[in-house]
Amino acid sequence: MLKTHAYAAHNANSNLTPFSFDRREPRANDVQIDILYCGVCHSDLHQVRNEWGSASYPIVPGHEIIGKVTAIGSAVSGFKIGETVGVGCLVDSCRTCPDCQDNLEQFCNTPTFTYNSEDKVSGGTTYGGYSSRIVVDQHFVLHISDKLDPAAAAPLLCAGITTYSPLRHWKIGKGDKVGIVGLGGLGHMGVKLAHAMGAHVVLFTTSTSKIDDAKRLGADEVVISKDAEAMQQHRLSFDFILNTVAAAHNLDSFTELLKRDGTLCLVGVPDSPHPSPSVANLIFKRRQIAGSLIGGLKETQEMLDFCAEHNIVSDIEIIPIQHINEAYERMLKSDVKYRFVIDISTLNAPNS
Ligand code: NAP
Ligand code: ZN
Ligand code: ZN
Repeated sequence: MLKTHAYAAHNANSNLTPFSFDRREPRANDVQIDILYCGVCHSDLHQVRNEWGSASYPIVPGHEIIGKVTAIGSAVSGFKIGETVGVGCLVDSCRTCPDCQDNLEQFCNTPTFTYNSEDKVSGGTTYGGYSSRIVVDQHFVLHISDKLDPAAAAPLLCAGITTYSPLRHWKIGKGDKVGIVGLGGLGHMGVKLAHAMGAHVVLFTTSTSKIDDAKRLGADEVVISKDAEAMQQHRLSFDFILNTVAAAHNLDSFTELLKRDGTLCLVGVPDSPHPSPSVANLIFKRRQIAGSLIGGLKETQEMLDFCAEHNIVSDIEIIPIQHINEAYERMLKSDVKYRFVIDISTLNAPNS
């Protein structure tokens, strides 16, 4: 077994603290990875604090993982020792259901998420990337271009794919007017990606302090979502709005901005329900409210390659792992530009 150092949450109310556990030795199809960086997603905070009611402690969070391959199993063909690789939100799925066959492993009925998920190989619960190493089946490991800064590429593994996938699914491109709601980890990637796809991008934010940044990141316009008059100026004008907000709020103020047949796609997962949206707002213009979950492995690789080609990474603040609890508090106050990334070398416990 492989001794692994980490930070874990042991219940919903206390801080993450140092923890160690064993990873499995690599099997024939496994890639063993020393973790260099791990992004801090708002989902980590939701899970650690049991805001979705599915926490199984201890939880080692982290699903925006960048590392170096240190060993490969005998059947691994696509990866070499020393290569920089990524691991996102999924580490396994059934591989046989229609969703898996369509390269949409995120919709498999029996997925294995990177943490807080039943570990069907080793038993127990999966442990994520706030740790010194991980062992993952090669199907769930991603290639990371040398063109991408490894720390700033980490958030692409969740924030990047979660915004890229719906933009692609709804075929966003030149001529489309796209709204992104919330300038956090997901939202700032949504702005960069929608801009790179050629859309006219409008960022909706509750934070006046983020206006200049949003424009630097690629937004053509910025609207303060609490300003009813500014919102009204955009009525009936959007093809697509991607809502990344991590808290319950009124959706009607966004659906009424959609054109006929426009879509409001939700990716934020608040801990309490949004107020019921107005049916009239939907039926009179055949508008839709939809949802989207991360992306499959094939599309995640496509997104990483798109980012390498377009020189897109996340705007990050690197933190030592000892600052993770303070980082969660700052994330709750929207005080991060725009993703914390843990430097895993600060675990100060080398793998042996
Ligand atoms: P984040 O960095 O905390 O960003 C969320 C942003 O939402 C904030 O920066 C803020 O933007 C806005 N916001 C927060 N509280 C708000 C409130 N009460 N009212 C209005 N706006 C508010 O979070 P994240 O990591 O981007 O994650 C966002 C959500 O997506 C989380 O719920 C997370 O669990 C979920 N998620 C879903 C998927 C998926 O596959 N569907 C994948 C990853 C994450 P402004 O300051 O600009 O208003
Ligand atoms: Zn995430
Ligand atoms: Zn499946």
